[in-house]
Amino acid sequence: MVKPEFWTDEKTGMLEPVEKCLLLGMLNYADDEGLIKANPLYLKSVIFPYDSKIKTDKIKNTLRKLSELGLIFLYTKNNQSFAWIIKFRVHQRIDKPQKPQNPCPSIQNNKYHEAIFKRDSFICYLCGEYTDIQEKPDGPNSKFPSVDHILPKSKEGSDYPTNLKTACISCNKNKGSKIVPELFQDRSENTPDETIKETIKEKNKKHKLKEDFSLSDDLKKYAVDRDINPAKIDELLLAFKDYHIGRGNLMVDWGRAWQQWVRNAPQFSAWAMKDGGNSDAYRELRNRLKKSGSVV
Ligand SMILES: [Zn+2]
Repeated sequence: MVKPEFWTDEKTGMLEPVEKCLLLGMLNYADDEGLIKANPLYLKSVIFPYDSKIKTDKIKNTLRKLSELGLIFLYTKNNQSFAWIIKFRVHQRIDKPQKPQNPCPSIQNNKYHEAIFKRDSFICYLCGEYTDIQEKPDGPNSKFPSVDHILPKSKEGSDYPTNLKTACISCNKNKGSKIVPELFQDRSENTPDETIKETIKEKNKKHKLKEDFSLSDDLKKYAVDRDINPAKIDELLLAFKDYHIGRGNLMVDWGRAWQQWVRNAPQFSAWAMKDGGNSDAYRELRNRLKKSGSVV
């Protein structure tokens, strides 16, 4: 399905009707990576089969124009011509991406890198800032643009466009071969590495709170920043554990559950607040905890 932005986009909107038609046809026939054979004869036969006035020369010239406008990236593989419709995912809505049918450009090709940068508007997907082609690639915290594999090469990640993202060279180096799970559903290939899939599944699985659950410095700070009395954090944690372990509750992220517990403290655990140590709520809860044997 072509999005309405196709018609209003500055570049595509300025095309001649025939050129627009060619690009639309290419969008239609491209695989889910936005790759398509770019042989003019082939394109003519599938997009303009009955238009005797449209010659293959016109198609050849239009391909060149689309390439100069940065709308498509032309490349050859095994002596065949192909095009990558650079903003394919911007114009096209893909529900369940299928495996690509065409070979992708070579990752050694610098022009391919430039096309990736253009697709991503030169924005680093790791820090969200603009990369800068003027910076030195080897400088400290350099913003020089580089291409990063979402699924790393070392884990058999491919060179297809949906597996590639623009990143500052320094962000890229810091990331190493770590994986950003949120980006996975956008890729068209089936994940070749089952273990990564498993890791993500495992990460999102609900589990019981463990007896030895302890608070990281960040989680402690989260509580103190929200006016929990530092001297009462251990007791608050005990109440949190008693409640959840007692009920056998299942959660994906117990750190977040703790944060919610802290946010609810003014209402349910006033005794743990900086000013609540002598409140009736505190005394009552302490008595209850004492009775249940959780507090000595
Ligand atoms: Zn960055």
